[in-house]
Amino acid sequence: MRCKEVGGINLGQGICDLPVHDQIKQAVSDAVNHNHSQYSACEGVAALRSEIVNKVNNFNNLNINKDNVMVGHGATGIFVCTVMTLFNPGDEVVIFEPFYGYHKNILDLQQIKLNPVAINLQDFSIDFDELKSAITPKTKGIIICTPNNPTGKVFSRDELEYIASLAKQHDLFIITDEIYEYVTYPGFEHLSIASLPDCFDRTLTISGFSKTYNMTGWRLGYAIGRADIIEKMSLLNDYLYVCASTPMQYAVIEALKLPQNYYQQMAQAYLHKRDLVVNALRDMGFEFAMPQGAYYLLADFSKLPFKNDLEIVDFLLEKAKVATVPGRAFYLNPEDGEKCIRFCFALSEEKLQAAMAAMAEVMPI
Ligand code: PLP
Repeated sequence: MRCKEVGGINLGQGICDLPVHDQIKQAVSDAVNHNHSQYSACEGVAALRSEIVNKVNNFNNLNINKDNVMVGHGATGIFVCTVMTLFNPGDEVVIFEPFYGYHKNILDLQQIKLNPVAINLQDFSIDFDELKSAITPKTKGIIICTPNNPTGKVFSRDELEYIASLAKQHDLFIITDEIYEYVTYPGFEHLSIASLPDCFDRTLTISGFSKTYNMTGWRLGYAIGRADIIEKMSLLNDYLYVCASTPMQYAVIEALKLPQNYYQQMAQAYLHKRDLVVNALRDMGFEFAMPQGAYYLLADFSKLPFKNDLEIVDFLLEKAKVATVPGRAFYLNPEDGEKCIRFCFALSEEKLQAAMAAMAEVMPI
């Protein structure tokens, strides 16, 4: 809001300003003209679920059928359904910190206690002993987000295998938010934990269309999991909001048919933007590990003369007209995040360049 008021550049919110692919736009008008205008089944349009099956079996290396898929109101709506289906108030979950704010907020609303495990911002490592000790007798699940918002970490095979072994040992569910699955940088590959041996039955994999196809406002996401859990989640979907928008569900069938080079070009374009922002921020004195995936960067400003995250966020908005997010938004204890701020680098190259230039001009040396 304040960013709009000052006519600023918004590097705060996780949105991309690129247009939706023409083929998908055409599919929207086709869906409307074909009168796909009524409620769909609560688990989603069958033809879309079939297309998701193909995508998941090819890209995520799973072996699922339509009963393992439900479509809902964005990855966010799907996360709500997942949490409400799997957990009860008073249950505990392990979550990696810094975390994505909506995960925390939704878990809070359900009165689920969060046991945080640190992602080290210097090198994105996680401490396996800390992870093990975060599990209590009340723990029912582990929440993962890979590629990660807000850090840009991509969880490695070793890490996912360890998480999987703990989940098995303690009989825990795994919820994995993989909405940035197509955005990884050279040297890093996305791996779905559900594809590891014996993991599928306890894992709910969440993804969506918002980020891959630049359509955060269309509100379409999906979950992959065991058929009996998916059935319960679909029922909840029905109780909460009946179904996701029917014409939009038909339209994104076309999105899933885009050729492979669509995804390669997207990842390449984000790589270019990442490097632009990384170089500019390092020159200004920010410190951070290189993002491995997604389009966020959580930068430490300890070497710069600002008291805390709120002060630098205000300064950047007022002086450079650039909006960022205070680090405390990603931590349970605000003090743990008070030395960093998050940048989203999904905007056009021109806007990123303008934002970096405006910041460099006002930054104290
Ligand atoms: N999950 C993560 C990790 C995100 O960063 C975001 C948006 O920023 C979402 C989910 C939201 O997804 P959707 O628009 O499908 O609700």
